[in-house]
Amino acid sequence: NNGGFMNAAHGHDELLGGLLSPDMDNLSCRSRYQSWRYFKHFPYAPSPHLLRSLRAYEDRHRRCAPGTPLYAEAIDHLKSGSSSAAADEADMEECRYVVWLPFDGLGNRMLSMASGFLYALLTGRVFLVPLPPDSGDLFCEPFPNTTWLLPVKDFPVDNLFGLGLNPEASLTKLLANKKIVVDVDTDDPAAVATPLPAYVYLSLGWEMTDVAFFCGEHQAALEKVSWLLLYSNLYFAPSLYQIAEFQDELRLLFPTATESISHLLLRYLLHPSNTVWGMVTRYYHSYLANADRRIGIQIRMFNFGAIPVDDMYNQILACSRQEHILPETDDGSDAAGDTATATTSGGSSDSNNNGSSTTTAILVVSLYADYYERLRVRYYEHTAAKHGGNTWVGVFQPTHEERQATESLAHNQKALAEVYLLSFSDELVTSGRSTFGYVSSSLAGVRPTILLTAIDHKVPETPCQRAVSMDPCNHKPPRGVVCRRGMAVDRDDLAHHVRVCEDYDIGVKLF
Ligand code: GDP
Repeated sequence: NNGGFMNAAHGHDELLGGLLSPDMDNLSCRSRYQSWRYFKHFPYAPSPHLLRSLRAYEDRHRRCAPGTPLYAEAIDHLKSGSSSAAADEADMEECRYVVWLPFDGLGNRMLSMASGFLYALLTGRVFLVPLPPDSGDLFCEPFPNTTWLLPVKDFPVDNLFGLGLNPEASLTKLLANKKIVVDVDTDDPAAVATPLPAYVYLSLGWEMTDVAFFCGEHQAALEKVSWLLLYSNLYFAPSLYQIAEFQDELRLLFPTATESISHLLLRYLLHPSNTVWGMVTRYYHSYLANADRRIGIQIRMFNFGAIPVDDMYNQILACSRQEHILPETDDGSDAAGDTATATTSGGSSDSNNNGSSTTTAILVVSLYADYYERLRVRYYEHTAAKHGGNTWVGVFQPTHEERQATESLAHNQKALAEVYLLSFSDELVTSGRSTFGYVSSSLAGVRPTILLTAIDHKVPETPCQRAVSMDPCNHKPPRGVVCRRGMAVDRDDLAHHVRVCEDYDIGVKLF
């Protein structure tokens, strides 16, 4: 029964416009069926082509998942080192996989998952995740009546989590050692590479070891390799746009706006487990639910851009003044230009205004308590001003963990809960270069205001910038790669959809 919820009135339903399959058990994953009540924005409906592609993907996943005969066969091929040519000859369906590997913090992981899943959609592969104990009870199974979990102990590649940047099976080494030979004069993928390795390792992280991945000729060769191991901490979806072979399909999947890619993929793929969802909903109903306006502020202090707490706090206030985000106060220090009169016109502001009062909840998310403390005191000591009415301001912070502890499940659960709490905001202020902030904005469907990083520890002159899109920044677009085929993309089209990131001048983002 959807009756009574505001979003239902706007045509949104618990399956997010068909994005989510109805064939799932709602008790095992309550967030799947409840998150729509909490999100404030639904900027993009999924296209019919995306819906068809997802349903076809789900069918394929069911046929090929661990536990099926086709999976057992693919594992046998991997063990014997043979390619899947035999399956081809016998005209049997063969399954091909992308095995995502965990790398870096939660935000990085969620973005590389979304990118890897998009690649699986584009290439007819099946997306599997071997989850280490630190990530066990974080996400629900995303695909109906099957599993996305790779059984690690039966997987015939040793040391799966410790292969690093450039193991023997990396694309770069396989190309260098002529284990993959590309014939650039033919369009026939069957002719491009023989014999093929049983699996190829792709290191598409910050170091971008296997940059050749983004060339069309290598995509053609990889088509025939059943197992790809993806080691990435990046949102590399924008780079898939540069591969000519994928461009048309990407346009069909996301026709209205390229910035919807991460938004729709994250809402489709990642759902907090019941444990995490319990934290999210308990906190939301206790502190945020009754506010008229929710502002999320995510503060990430990187070592390379660390500045004193007071400088960061002043940057937040300067940003807020520049973009008119936080309620101003009547202390005179930062109310310049504010035309509010009610709370400054003589003491009894309760009875002095004609407008109704509104409540603003400010959700602070940070490893540290300092910014929360300062903001809380600010609104305790000063009246918040608003045109024609009172503004009651509450400031909240769920945790302050002090340090990143990606090896701890309990820590990651709290981090994920906070990503979701942020994603229920009406407005977001996030920290530049933080994937944690990027994921929150994409999930929320909000173009955030991004606090710029203090390069060389210097407080930036411009405190923040409104993002042109909700899509994350790809910190490491493939540069310097010489492709012999397949980078013949429609450059004009690309230029219309990709631009330099607000917070990182060597990164690019979709808009
Ligand atoms: P990034 O480093 O900002 O790009 O984001 P990541 O999510 O990849 O890595 C940072 C990790 O530090 C998170 O996953 C959390 O484990 C932790 N962390 C950073 N900021 C916060 C925060 O505000 N709240 C919580 N609970 N954890 C945080």
